[in-house]
Amino acid sequence: MVSTEYERKIAARFATFDQDGNGYIDREDFNAATKALLAEFGIAARSDKGQALYIGAEAFWQGMAGIADRDGDQRITREEFVGGAVKRLRDNPDRFAEIARPFLDAALAIADGDGDAAATVDEVARALKALGAPETVATAAAGALDADSDGRVTEPEIVSAFARYFTVPE
Ligand code: CA
Ligand code: CA
Repeated sequence: MVSTEYERKIAARFATFDQDGNGYIDREDFNAATKALLAEFGIAARSDKGQALYIGAEAFWQGMAGIADRDGDQRITREEFVGGAVKRLRDNPDRFAEIARPFLDAALAIADGDGDAAATVDEVARALKALGAPETVATAAAGALDADSDGRVTEPEIVSAFARYFTVPE
């Protein structure tokens, strides 16, 4: 039963990570996200960019598990997510940026079609849709990332926005 704005936001964050929707976050969800991004942008898993994304996803999972998997069963339940991840990340958003950065860097390199170290707003929207965001949410979020409205989204913009997204105010 989702009743407050805070609970609604937490549920949305949890669903973002729980890519296969089975009620807990584990390594498979990070693999699913990686596969979805590679498929969307036509990048081979065995390529350098593909391997970098897998390595970043594993580091992201290990970092999240270290923060939130209190009972060490390699699964983050909703309770562990709320009690561990959300609270600790709110206290320390820099830590979240740190564990997410290798994955976000690799994802940006995959979405960045012309190799100029920035993704277009459209490329970011495609990446978010591949990760399961509804079209309107993906388009709005991608546009919001481009703070100076030059049509390009860079790594610092993505990392700080991602950390902000998970720093859910109570
Ligand atoms: Ca899952
Ligand atoms: Ca657990």
